[in-house]
Amino acid sequence: MKFNGIEFDTYFKNYPDKNGFFGKYGGSYISEDLKKAMEEITEAYFTICKSSKFISELRKIRKEFQGRPTPISYLERLSGKLGNVQLYVKREDLNHTGAHKLNHCMGEALLAKYMGKKKVIAETGAGQHGVALATAAAYFGLECDIYMGSVDIKKQAPNVARMKILGANVVEVTHGLATLKEAVDAAFDAYTREYKDAIYCIGSVVGPHPFPMMVRDFQSVVGIEAREQFVEMTGELPDAVVACVGGGSNAMGMFSGFLNDPVDIYGIEPLGRSTALGDHAASLQYGEEGVMHGFNSIMLKDENGDPAPVYSVASGLDYPSSGPEHAFLHDLGRVKYDVINDEETIDAFFTLSRLEGIIPAIESSHAVAYGMKLAKKMGRGSILICLSGRGDKDMDYIIEKYGIR
Ligand SMILES: *Cc1c(COP(=O)(O)O)cnc(C)c1O
Repeated sequence: MKFNGIEFDTYFKNYPDKNGFFGKYGGSYISEDLKKAMEEITEAYFTICKSSKFISELRKIRKEFQGRPTPISYLERLSGKLGNVQLYVKREDLNHTGAHKLNHCMGEALLAKYMGKKKVIAETGAGQHGVALATAAAYFGLECDIYMGSVDIKKQAPNVARMKILGANVVEVTHGLATLKEAVDAAFDAYTREYKDAIYCIGSVVGPHPFPMMVRDFQSVVGIEAREQFVEMTGELPDAVVACVGGGSNAMGMFSGFLNDPVDIYGIEPLGRSTALGDHAASLQYGEEGVMHGFNSIMLKDENGDPAPVYSVASGLDYPSSGPEHAFLHDLGRVKYDVINDEETIDAFFTLSRLEGIIPAIESSHAVAYGMKLAKKMGRGSILICLSGRGDKDMDYIIEKYGIR
């Protein structure tokens, strides 16, 4: 399928290019030392992703450890309530550890093992990536250092406990605001010192090349499964596919199954409390081109051109940029990006729980809310929503802040 001059039959062969660019976005804006380390990872990845031993081991892990394929569920009561549009969800909440993140963490840790590394390193904000990586490290018998700001350590006690139970070393970062940005800096510093023995595992389709490509490839299992399952269930393709976008890994995984199809694709960013800078994290909607954390993309900037403070009710979505491939697909118009605010999100959280018996993560609730809005607009057809994770982690917060609705 051709779209705006880009041939999507060969899209995955051509994007990213060999330097990690999706058009002008992506690349590798890092120190020479780290560049060498990233080149080593790129080379190893290109070798093993063609090795049948690696592929069959990853396949076995997905089936026997993660519980894949995850199903697609038809939302009968919600669809009935909204009119003539049929809504479906891809159930990444049923992937082991309760979200899509384990899909790329298992791939990254398997890569670490094949490269002969002893340790995996990462940062975490809300703790979701840390828990998924700690799980993967336990599975492969790797050491695991997770860098986390002291503010987040206090806020996310259950996830800190999970990481420790899984045997990870949670390293407290106390400088600056002591949240995610400082944790990223500290993890990069540690990696610069330890790259001979360790590999840095990025938690989304962000960071320097090869991570946006590698994480997309590991997550593409979501879209490949979903396309096949949907066609088997309904005999046709969905009219629309929807996913929430923080860094953009669950969305890229889902979208990669449908980019070459006549399907409308929607990426949903968090509008938070308002459109004012600092009140949301809708970087593709309101941002501009810029480099941060080693890659060029569209980002929200403060008056000095630095990454702006961002906010979302979903801690997994509050990142001031998005993966370079999303910036590319945005400019191209192949994917439409839109926003959902906190209020609409909380409403969707309770609606899906009540009507379908599925408690969604607050992140995923953004996609559900958009699916509900789109259903009213479309009038007829079908929508497939990526339910990136389960909401157990969010229940205490929602009950305290919003009560039972
Ligand atoms: C981390 C997380 C997200 C956001 O990350 P992406 O890379 O944008 O997918 C979304 N949903 C859940 C459940 C998460 O844990």
